[in-house]
Amino acid sequence: MCPGDKTQTRRIDEILEKVRASGGRVTPQRVAIIKAAIASDHPSVEQVYQAVRVEFPMTSLATVYKTLSMLQEMGQAVSLGSSDDALHYDLLTPDPHAHALCLRCGRVRDLPVSTLPDMVSEASEVADGWRLTRRIDFWGLCDDCAHEAAPAEDRTERA
Ligand SMILES: [Zn+2]
Ligand SMILES: [Zn+2]
Repeated sequence: MCPGDKTQTRRIDEILEKVRASGGRVTPQRVAIIKAAIASDHPSVEQVYQAVRVEFPMTSLATVYKTLSMLQEMGQAVSLGSSDDALHYDLLTPDPHAHALCLRCGRVRDLPVSTLPDMVSEASEVADGWRLTRRIDFWGLCDDCAHEAAPAEDRTERA
């Protein structure tokens, strides 16, 4: 068992606890959705759906959507779009964090921007009682796609 598995198991338990605490039902299907969403890196709703259907063939895409958006409302999931217009989710890291999305291949990764938590707390301070969720995305080309886009030229920018 690698350390990543432990983190995932702990995170699954944490989410289930929050669901119970908020009066939500913890059904085997919900557990499967949460597990599937945590098992891969920023999966799309479709990917979670396909994974859950292996064990629960009766699961509908709508149920997967509903469960993930419920978790988002609880502050336990972060949703983000991608270049393929698919909605992706991050359940592993609910804390404020920024994402980088590749416009060409749809890859998503976390960006550990250190000033972000400050920005998020300042935003809620100035929001006049609004209950906000956040989504901070950066768009562009991933390292692989950037390489492909500029194979010959050296595009190093110089001031
Ligand atoms: Zn890419
Ligand atoms: Zn993330």
